[in-house]
Amino acid sequence: MELLKRKIMSDGVVLSDQVLKVDAFLNHQIDPLLMQQIGHEFAKRFAGQGISKIVTIEASGIAPAVMAGLELGVPVIFARKYQSLTLKDDLYTSTVFSFTKQTESTLAISSKHLNAQDHVLLIDDFLANGHAARALIDLIGQAGASIAGIGVVIEKSFQRGRAELDEQGYRVESLARIQSLSGGQVSFLD
Ligand code: 5GP
Repeated sequence: MELLKRKIMSDGVVLSDQVLKVDAFLNHQIDPLLMQQIGHEFAKRFAGQGISKIVTIEASGIAPAVMAGLELGVPVIFARKYQSLTLKDDLYTSTVFSFTKQTESTLAISSKHLNAQDHVLLIDDFLANGHAARALIDLIGQAGASIAGIGVVIEKSFQRGRAELDEQGYRVESLARIQSLSGGQVSFLD
């Protein structure tokens, strides 16, 4: 998606050869017009797939997921993050290792909102090593729901998440694929 790539080049900050900061338009300040176009692009790529729900993670997945939900006309569920969780009644839960915080937390979705009839599009802001995607796939599996595919705003293709999801047979659609962040420079795969 050209507009997104231009935005990454103009407003993204390479923090290291592993981490890209996009606080100017996705992770802190949000660019609504860009989010609208991201939602449009996801909806175009997953049109006609019988998607009934979108599932994402708080907080940075919510903006792109809501815009995609608006376009596809389906509800959006965000998995909530807890440092510790004792009351697990009526919740699907899974642990996730955070790439940016380097800590573990528990993700939870209420069983009220997701069930075996759902066909889910999973959306997240970044795909790095695939921990977040794996935890969401686990939660969706607990509900007995099926997965139409995974929509990612920014994929860092040099980390292992994409290859693992491909191997597992999931359809992954990434709107910007980063080949390398070496030397403080962003280079795209296609
Ligand atoms: P994964 O679970 O695939 O290793 O990492 C994906 C999650 O970590 C995303 O939900 C995102 O919040 C965060 N993340 C991973 N890499 C980056 C990055 O380079 N920059 C930012 N801002 N977040 C990242």
